[in-house]
Amino acid sequence: MNILFVASELFPYVKTGGLGDVMAALPRAMRALGAEVRLLLPAYPALLEAVELQGEVTALPELMGGGPARILRAEAPGLPLYLLDQPAFFDRPGGPYGQPEDLAHRFAALSWAASFLGRVGDVAGWRPEVLHGHDWHTGLMPAYVAYGEGPRPATVMTIHNIAFQGRFSAALLSELWLPRHALTPEGVEFHGDIGFLKGGLRLADRISTVSPTYAREIQLAGGHGLEGLLAHRRGDLHGILNGVDRTVWSPAKDAHLVSRYDLKHPGRRAPNRPDFQRRMGLQEDPGAPLFAAISRLDPLKGLDLVLDNVDHLVSQGAQLAVIGTGDPHAEGAFRQAAQRHPGRVAVFIGYDEALAHRTFAAADVILVPSRQEPCGLTQLYAQGYGALPLVRRTGGLADTVVGVTPETLADDTATGFQFDWATGWALGEAINEALRLFRDPATWRQVQRRGMATEFGWEGPARAYLDLYATIPPEGI
Ligand code: ADP
Repeated sequence: MNILFVASELFPYVKTGGLGDVMAALPRAMRALGAEVRLLLPAYPALLEAVELQGEVTALPELMGGGPARILRAEAPGLPLYLLDQPAFFDRPGGPYGQPEDLAHRFAALSWAASFLGRVGDVAGWRPEVLHGHDWHTGLMPAYVAYGEGPRPATVMTIHNIAFQGRFSAALLSELWLPRHALTPEGVEFHGDIGFLKGGLRLADRISTVSPTYAREIQLAGGHGLEGLLAHRRGDLHGILNGVDRTVWSPAKDAHLVSRYDLKHPGRRAPNRPDFQRRMGLQEDPGAPLFAAISRLDPLKGLDLVLDNVDHLVSQGAQLAVIGTGDPHAEGAFRQAAQRHPGRVAVFIGYDEALAHRTFAAADVILVPSRQEPCGLTQLYAQGYGALPLVRRTGGLADTVVGVTPETLADDTATGFQFDWATGWALGEAINEALRLFRDPATWRQVQRRGMATEFGWEGPARAYLDLYATIPPEGI
């Protein structure tokens, strides 16, 4: 089956979060199962420089007000690509979502290019039977398919984060090459505006999101205004967990670490800790439980609950390292916390892939106190690297971490700690639970081993997506 993924990020070239990781791993896992998956992305300079270009599919004199555009064929290792080369939209500073004045036009252009490939195919005669869009950036793709002419490929939308929806003025309708009749509740209209994600979720043949619990939550209180639509479409909505790319995230092969280790040699994990402490400016205190968070600093990530617990952690003899960037207020608050507790609290404001790897290999506990978490990857990486995740019981965090209880310890299924209420106090209670277990090294190692032994591979999810496509009636495909 021919499948075209459409997305705005691809690790290691363009990544702001989990979406980039998933786009690198899932298509390759599906290809390993025999599906002909290709990926359409904007031709960001970082991509153009890194991948092998293989010629032009089509040239358009004008696309979505951004001037001339070309669709190029390219190849990343093990992954055929199409790149939408439109310099006015995609060759500029600020990252994929910077310079918001023409955000709608840019991603409408990407969505339209996807529908073009779905209708016409490429010069070599390859045409996707399924167009699979990821997040709001591709939300108009099902609309261009629905309102366009010619062969109609099946369409699937995956929600990686429903908090980002791409909502723009209805005055842009014709600039975005949408017909007047698209502006209805059955189309792209959302409270009088154009809703990119809303339109995609209304018009796609199937919808998925990245964990079963999140699939339920977004039909209830967590849908950011799209609960009703998703509840209406619940028969077409599926929750499929993300996996971990072990070619990138494996402590046995990780070039970023001073000492590599695995389940058979857990003792080799130890040297990573003083190395990390030195790099971060933390005291090399071997006995201190080391808590860490690696996250976008966004209110939904719940890092304010960690701020509430800084003094508590320090008073209990723990250390805290935070690696993140985002909300300037949160950045400032963490910087102040580090100044207040030199050597005990350290903060790196910025994005550093290598440091993230080193953190998972050094920390005892990875804090993931998200208010909402569609799937979450850091708690999966933490388990593989022998750090125990401490998570709020929401979305994918609920589905992938087994909290420590007398029962889960007895049947050796526990992999971390969970708490329910999004309050500093509730997180503090879970921190206390972690500190108690830390004083019982044998049990700690049991939980650590269980986490390291949990695979979270991509093959199962890849099969689930192929099964999902197979549920679309033939006239859709
Ligand atoms: P989201 O996609 O909502 O940001 P995920 O947990 O799904 O959250 O994915 C986050 C990814 O981004 C992980 O790979 C994590 O290691 C990485 N990450 C987040 N912040 C940073 C940072 N400041 N430096 C390095 N990596 C980061």
